[in-house]
Amino acid sequence: MFRRTVRFLLSIVMLASVALAGDVVLAGTAQADGCYTWSRTLRQGSSGADVRQLQIRVSGYPGTGAVLALDGEYGPATAAAVRRFQQAYGLTADGIAGSQTFNKIYALQDNDCTPIHFTYAEMNRCNSTWTGGAVSAATARANALVNMWKLEALRHALGDRPITTSSGFRSYSCNSAAGGSSTSRHLYGDAVDLTGSLSFCTLAKEARNHGFREILGPGYPDHNDHTHVANRSSRYWSAPNCGI
Ligand SMILES: [Zn+2]
Repeated sequence: MFRRTVRFLLSIVMLASVALAGDVVLAGTAQADGCYTWSRTLRQGSSGADVRQLQIRVSGYPGTGAVLALDGEYGPATAAAVRRFQQAYGLTADGIAGSQTFNKIYALQDNDCTPIHFTYAEMNRCNSTWTGGAVSAATARANALVNMWKLEALRHALGDRPITTSSGFRSYSCNSAAGGSSTSRHLYGDAVDLTGSLSFCTLAKEARNHGFREILGPGYPDHNDHTHVANRSSRYWSAPNCGI
């Protein structure tokens, strides 16, 4: 009688934990997170704010030397970026953003819309307000967000090994204190200096595939102890010691 009771209680516990695990799984797939939820499948020809939100998340997959426009228009370049993102994470690579793609993005983002491995805090070691630079605080933060998604793609391409950042947004005063040039992209919030355990050349070389128009690394003046990635209107890559 006692053993039967124990067995009975054990089976209830097991059933309960299976049910609980099931709930957790369902909750993870049915509900996105505190950041952003897509409500329709997006494909070539789609346009709107939801397309632009997608473009930000796949901006690290534009193809070598390219930069994805964040224009809210789902054209061939966006489809190709989605396909590369899908391939990178082992999803069906059809270039259409449906639930499997969105669920992967939900799993990769925090509630503040940053990718899981990067934070606003590390993108701004200068001040907490994002003010005092060359653009508004909102623009500087928005630029930093796009950069974080590009860095998430870079990190994933390099085997998900940690990438450390040493400098991001700088106000004019932080920039002069750091000895940065007066036209530094750090003033716009769209430059990041990378360090960490990966070699600076490995970072500089791979960054060419992830949407950075500006890459400065070993061999470029004052860039032997980090690799700098940023954005600008035309391409400028220089890391002579890495063959770039
Ligand atoms: Zn820099």
